[in-house]
Amino acid sequence: MTLSIDEQVDLQAYNTLRLPSKARFFCRVHDLDTLREAVTHAQSLNLPLLLLGGGSNMVLCHDFPGLCILIELTGIQRIDLSKNQVLVRVGAGENWHRFVETSINQGYYGLENLALIPGTVGAAPVQNIGAYGVEIKDFLESVEVLDLESLELRTFNREACGFGYRDSIFKGRLRDRYAITSVTFRLNLKPSLAMGYGELAQDLEAIKDRVPGPRDLFEAVCRIRARKLPDPHLLANAGSFFKNPLVDGNRLLQLQAQYPDLVSYPEPDGRFKLAAGWMIDRSGWKGVREGAVGVHEHQALVLVNYGQGRGVDILRLAKAIQLDIFRRFQVELEIEPRIY
Ligand code: FAD
Ligand code: NAP
Repeated sequence: MTLSIDEQVDLQAYNTLRLPSKARFFCRVHDLDTLREAVTHAQSLNLPLLLLGGGSNMVLCHDFPGLCILIELTGIQRIDLSKNQVLVRVGAGENWHRFVETSINQGYYGLENLALIPGTVGAAPVQNIGAYGVEIKDFLESVEVLDLESLELRTFNREACGFGYRDSIFKGRLRDRYAITSVTFRLNLKPSLAMGYGELAQDLEAIKDRVPGPRDLFEAVCRIRARKLPDPHLLANAGSFFKNPLVDGNRLLQLQAQYPDLVSYPEPDGRFKLAAGWMIDRSGWKGVREGAVGVHEHQALVLVNYGQGRGVDILRLAKAIQLDIFRRFQVELEIEPRIY
């Protein structure tokens, strides 16, 4: 495939918050050679790079002065099979939800709780996507990347990815250094379902005549998400805008004295996760609209763009929420999507 570069491309259709932003240069890459060619071209002109998947975890606040590369490397390959597990390598540009569904159809299990998360397979390890108690790291074997400086391919095993809560080295210390080209998953041939989250368990209780299976879990997750979360095709958003903050036990007790109905969950490291959505809702922000942007009326963690909003409008609203939450709870809310 030959490299074709366009100029002054509007990125509004390429990000789920539908924020206006122009990329000075823009190209699509379907294979490794074209990706290398695009990066070499940018290096020769000293242009910054913006790697783009589904645009569902970014806030575009400015025009981008460099080369935006839409990652469209595809392919799903079974590379090993044992008695209980299978290794599957997936191109970074594959759609995440379609891959989850395909894997279940093939009898490869583990990713059911991560159904219906928008975006690409390649972006999924960047923030270690998670939902309903499962994270991609639980089923990830390795990540293949292209070094954007040396143009060499490299493989990171799971430990080397530095996964944390909605975090990895690709979002932190090594951000912008690598393009993820494929992800290899280790999936189970025998299902082992994670149904602990209250809403999931409740939904699955409706199945009376048999033990729920992976497809039931997948469908329950899709049902709950479709009911609770705004579809970005209908109302522009980037999912949860803030991470759930973590506090120690003493801080939790202080907060509970002030807010007896505070929603919190114990973490394996001894700290406690506070439900940011509950704090934002409790502070009266749910459904608040400021001009063309607002807080979703049913999901306080989701900021939405009603049409004409810009990145700066979203950030202004986010800042006002952060200040208010800090004033009320003395807790800092960290923004989850990447700001550009
Ligand atoms: P993009 O937004 O295109 O990119 C995100 C970041 O990754 C950018 O910094 C980009 O440069 C970088 N990147 C993209 N592709 C590559 C690549 N190949 N190599 C290196 N870097 C790359 N997230 C969750 O964790 N759990 C959820 O349940 C969840 N639900 C969501 C629901 C909705 C309605 C929405 C809109 C978002 C939700 N998200 C969720 C956030 C988002 O979908 C995920 O973070 C997703 O993985 C982003 O994929 P993307 O392809 O859209 O990434
Ligand atoms: P929810 O079920 O209403 O729960 C609210 C919060 O409480 C969630 O943030 C979740 O934390 C936490 N929680 C609930 N039950 C828990 C349990 N049994 N153990 C530990 N923590 C628990 O959440 P929701 O907004 O409808 O989202 C459902 C799932 O999808 C969540 O896992 C959420 O993270 C994920 N999601 C993520 C995004 C995103 O953009 N990042 C967008 C939509 C949904 P966790 O968030 O840590 O799970």
